[in-house]
Amino acid sequence: MRDKVVKDDVLDEGAEQLVEPKIRLTERIHRLNVRWPWLKILMVVMLMTMVATGIVMILQRDVGQTVSEETEVNEQEEQSVETENEVVVPDEKGTEPEEDESGATPEGDSETSGVPGAENSGAVNVPQNTGRKIVALTFDDGPSASTTSALLDVLAAKQVKVTFFVLGNMAQRSPALIQREVAEGHEVESHTMSHQNLAKISGAAIQGEVTGVDTVLQEITGSTAKLVRPPYGSINDTVRANIGRPMILWTVDPEDWKYRDAATVRTNVVSKTFDGAIVLMHDIYNTTVEAVGAIIDDLRAAGYEFLTVSEMAAERGVVLQSGYSYGSFRP
Ligand code: ZN
Repeated sequence: MRDKVVKDDVLDEGAEQLVEPKIRLTERIHRLNVRWPWLKILMVVMLMTMVATGIVMILQRDVGQTVSEETEVNEQEEQSVETENEVVVPDEKGTEPEEDESGATPEGDSETSGVPGAENSGAVNVPQNTGRKIVALTFDDGPSASTTSALLDVLAAKQVKVTFFVLGNMAQRSPALIQREVAEGHEVESHTMSHQNLAKISGAAIQGEVTGVDTVLQEITGSTAKLVRPPYGSINDTVRANIGRPMILWTVDPEDWKYRDAATVRTNVVSKTFDGAIVLMHDIYNTTVEAVGAIIDDLRAAGYEFLTVSEMAAERGVVLQSGYSYGSFRP
């Protein structure tokens, strides 16, 4: 021991400056050990405590992550359940005629407020399948002095009856066309007086849009409209409360206002039509009138019969109710 100490001392002296701090540090620790022998134990205990705490924290963090991941999964499951429920809801109203899902979108020249949808209630409104394959062609926004008579010629040649949803202010301009439509067996109904978005005007104004057409049609034909097609398919609670008629929407929209091409209009109508569908077109476009002959031929070849809207509702046993909207009579 002693030798070693002496040897160390010699070495230390030889490299005094380099080794001196090491000695000082060792001496200090030694002195600390002598003065406070329990300090070493305390430090070891503190170190162990810190390590232990660190391990616990790491473990807790892992567990926490796992728990939150599980929670997220549960939330996702709940969301998917909610989504399923949302999907199920329309099925519960399965008594309704076709809702807006299969193309009952607002008319093209429109804003998208008030997405159309059939709303009727009670078993009396369940469309009954009578074994016929039927479709209703409807024409809005006329009569037009430049196009409607050509359409009437085609319909007469094909022996097809359709439904015209006429504007009061257009009917005033072409009363003879209204008379011809009625005389040739077509159904003439109301598309309001001036094509306003009914969801954006007052109840009194809505009533005025409806009664205005009644006055015009009464003068021309001797009877009023039984049905109203709200412009743009735009409906809200005020409209429902003030329209005073059943509202007829649509389920097949070839967007003939956008595709001013007879071939496209034909394809769009024929490809989307189903049994009980209401097809929306406009007799104010030449391209639409051009397409109608081929549309009739195609649908007829596919087994369809052409009925007016009121005929189709009656055929399917649907009693049209005031303030409700109908987009199709799919059985
Ligand atoms: Zn319109």
